[in-house]
Amino acid sequence: MRIGNGYDVHAFKGGRKLILGGVEIPHDKGLLGHSDADVLVHAIMDALLGAAALFDIGQHFPDTSDEYKDIDSLLLLERVGKLIYEKGYEIENIDSIIVAQKPKLMKFIPQMRQKIACSLGIDTEKVNVKATTTEKLGFEGREEGIASYAVCLLK
Ligand SMILES: [Zn+2]
Repeated sequence: MRIGNGYDVHAFKGGRKLILGGVEIPHDKGLLGHSDADVLVHAIMDALLGAAALFDIGQHFPDTSDEYKDIDSLLLLERVGKLIYEKGYEIENIDSIIVAQKPKLMKFIPQMRQKIACSLGIDTEKVNVKATTTEKLGFEGREEGIASYAVCLLK
């Protein structure tokens, strides 16, 4: 068994789509980033890579490369899955948290779990996504951006 953890933050920016766990969330602003800035999927990728001792997403998908400009992060997740499986690992489970003051995310979570599981070719039951606010404290609480944490177990 090998454990991995991931953390990511993106700042809010007007005129961008808000994509979390591959799901487009209706909101008045989105997250700024080179890719689609899917902060949840980025944290999950870093957890998976970390567990397999495969460095981090910056190493595999540099934000200086045009190839990854505005890319759907689920496609990158699919590639991370392949790297993990090539090394002979299986994903036991993934747990994750989205830290956002707004918008409310509860109703989108089942779809996020499905999309993440589908990109990795695993059962939805192996993927958990939670959402929390910070009671208006910190940058998430001031609605300056969204953070995400993830842990995973490989076998
Ligand atoms: Zn990111």
